[in-house]
Amino acid sequence: MWDACARKMVDFGGRLEMGVRVTSLDWNEEERVWTVRAVRADGAPATFHARNLISSCPIRELAESLSPTPKSLVQAQALKYRDFLTVVLIGKARKELPDNWVYIHDPAVKVGRVQNFRSWSPEMAPEGQACLGLEYFCFEGDGLWTSTDEELIALAKAEIAAVGLMDPADVEDACVVRQPKAYPVYDEEYREHVEAVRRDFADLYPTLSLIGRNGMHKYNNQDHAMMTGMLTAANIIAGETLYDVWGVNEDAEYGEAGESGTFAALLSERLVPRLAA
Ligand SMILES: Cc1cc2nc3c(=O)[nH]c(=O)nc-3n(C[C@H](O)[C@H](O)[C@H](O)COP(=O)(O)OP(=O)(O)OC[C@H]3O[C@@H](n4cnc5c(N)ncnc54)[C@H](O)[C@@H]3O)c2cc1C
Repeated sequence: MWDACARKMVDFGGRLEMGVRVTSLDWNEEERVWTVRAVRADGAPATFHARNLISSCPIRELAESLSPTPKSLVQAQALKYRDFLTVVLIGKARKELPDNWVYIHDPAVKVGRVQNFRSWSPEMAPEGQACLGLEYFCFEGDGLWTSTDEELIALAKAEIAAVGLMDPADVEDACVVRQPKAYPVYDEEYREHVEAVRRDFADLYPTLSLIGRNGMHKYNNQDHAMMTGMLTAANIIAGETLYDVWGVNEDAEYGEAGESGTFAALLSERLVPRLAA
């Protein structure tokens, strides 16, 4: 889907640059233009100019790369993230599971959830074998995160045996995938911090739009993240705020500023976890 999306964008005359890491974003208020400095995969520097900027990079990192420096830098830096790694074990399972994933509550093991990739799609596992992803919730730099792949695979083999899903002797292949900033943390203060950042950014950088999951520090799923991008594009094309992008995935309701409801019908009704009162 994304390959097709990229092709269409290029067909419409757009330019796609992959593997480019943005390092700084300078807003020139007088000329109302952004200067974006970046580094290409081969280390070569690159500079871009833009009237509008759409960011899906974590708010904390975005704030640190903006100039002039945002007043809300301290609040942006206070936003926290939960990291995550998956140890994938491929081999014969002890039993065939119908579930896509299984939550593990056994305090004797560290694994929090097991993905059963074959159940998502048979294409995700070799013929006749299971592909189980043991998910570990952690923080970048903690004991789990800094363990070697070999140590993590050994841990996963021991734990998959402990929960009875696979025999370590039947594991034929394994790999580790680390995902930094997997979850934006909803702590006591995050809402105030995000509010402060939103107000400040809107005031200082009128053509900067925040979208996505970490881009808005919001527990958005992929459909929500895509929707925030689509609505932002519609706002920019219209030259006004037709849609309240922050309304996506808000109590499963959609606060629409404009009259047209075309996008609203597409939104999912998935709820996010909430603190009990
Ligand atoms: C473990 C896990 C399981 C999930 N399961 C589901 C699921 O089952 N269903 C579902 O709908 N959603 C799921 N999600 C959520 C889904 O992955 C996200 O909602 C979605 O990927 C968010 O898209 P995004 O574009 O906002 O961010 P991302 O997909 O994270 O993209 C942000 C991009 O910005 C790039 N970037 C960051 N900084 C810079 C920089 N300085 N310069 C250049 N590029 C930069 C990153 O490299 C990245 O490519 C899951 C997420 C995780 C972590």
